[in-house]
Amino acid sequence: MSVKVFLDESEIPRQWYNLAADLPTPLQPPLGPDGKPISPEMLAPVFPMNLVEQEVSQERWIDIPEEVLEILYQWRPSPLYRARALEKALDTPAKIYYKNEGVSPAGSHKPNTAVAQAWYNREFGIKKLTTETGAGQWGSALSFAGALLGIEVQVYMVRISFDQKPFRRMMMETWGGKCYPSPSDRTQTGRAILEKFPDTPGSLGIAISEAIEAAVTDPTGETRYSLGSVLNHVMLHQTIIGLEAKKQLAKIGENKVDVVIGCAGGGSNFAGLSFPFVLDKINGADIRIIPVEPASCPTLTRAPFSYDHGDTAKMTPLLPMHSLGHDFVPPPVHAGGLRYHGMAPLVSQAAQEGLLEPMALDQLESYSAAIKWARTEGFISAPETSHAIAAVIREAEQAKEEGKEKTILFNWSGHGLMDLTGYEAFLSGKLTDHKMSEEELIENIKIMDGLPKPNMDKTGKW
Ligand SMILES: *Cc1c(COP(=O)(O)O)cnc(C)c1O
Repeated sequence: MSVKVFLDESEIPRQWYNLAADLPTPLQPPLGPDGKPISPEMLAPVFPMNLVEQEVSQERWIDIPEEVLEILYQWRPSPLYRARALEKALDTPAKIYYKNEGVSPAGSHKPNTAVAQAWYNREFGIKKLTTETGAGQWGSALSFAGALLGIEVQVYMVRISFDQKPFRRMMMETWGGKCYPSPSDRTQTGRAILEKFPDTPGSLGIAISEAIEAAVTDPTGETRYSLGSVLNHVMLHQTIIGLEAKKQLAKIGENKVDVVIGCAGGGSNFAGLSFPFVLDKINGADIRIIPVEPASCPTLTRAPFSYDHGDTAKMTPLLPMHSLGHDFVPPPVHAGGLRYHGMAPLVSQAAQEGLLEPMALDQLESYSAAIKWARTEGFISAPETSHAIAAVIREAEQAKEEGKEKTILFNWSGHGLMDLTGYEAFLSGKLTDHKMSEEELIENIKIMDGLPKPNMDKTGKW
């Protein structure tokens, strides 16, 4: 029995998989302020046209550029592991496999799309990228990619993380990125929010507004904005994870996966692992596919499927997604990367169709799971990833109760070596659960009352 399954570089997938080509109920278009579908040209000030083309593409398979692959070889194909020590500790008949995305230079899955996005921007003649970051994972991934591809990177970092997580800022600066706390006084949006709420901890929604404003107001026209999750092209770039996993499982004769699990913030690491398996499910396979979110930010499990803005200042088009409302400022739980108010439209539409079984878990259960993981498998998980581990443990314990052998695959989306203060808080008993109350939910989602509603049709097959 192998602990790790490797692919040779020559076996790396050479195309990304686009779920938009196969969704039984079609993905719905983003809408402009007038409620009409926006045209690709309207996105041109924000994204380079080559990425806009990917964003709206209905092609099932999209070639990965050779130069992008050459950079990905630095850490890809990533290993597929069998979590033998955890299985043993749980005394479960379940087999637990995981993709280790913590082996990338930035320590998470995010460089998979950062490298691709920086490459397409450079091809299009762009010199500078602006972006937002929560816990700093995305800002550091894009800074790393910018360094390799010769693109300047400017990062607006959610204030509370900027203060609490100086190490990620140092990583960004080491790779040459510039990092500002958000809200900042560098943009109109930031200044307006600071005036009203001088002590705000910030939010991803605010930081996105600032980063977009900084990109579209650059008079040189050589700056664009880059988003680390949510958008279709980001999901696309991450599918290399699931495509590799399929090849690795096939190599060891593991032909049937029963459960696929990933934590979900904006949806990208979950989508990256699961979309190739969602295709199998659409084609009749019996697989349960579970995105896991924090109970404090229950986007897929409790928020409505609506049209909403991706940011606080309403600079983005309206996206068809599960959303807690674009003004939502999440409580300061440590899983920074899972605190976004929205969810990828592709993940949302798949959930609407019934192809996914979303789950929300509390942070204490997630940290307990991460501790169990560290003391069996050894790796220290990102707080986001720990939500997936907690769901895996639930599944494995259920398998034991039912006496069923089942095969679980999950995405170990990143390491937590920059997030040790969260572990310290947990180990010293200072963390509490923050389940969102019904009143809070109602209060937050009110903001979408006047916004258009997406088509709620589904085939009813799942
Ligand atoms: C950013 C991040 C997430 C959440 O983002 P998704 O787009 O939902 O994947 C999860 N895990 C890690 C390690 C992250 O850095």
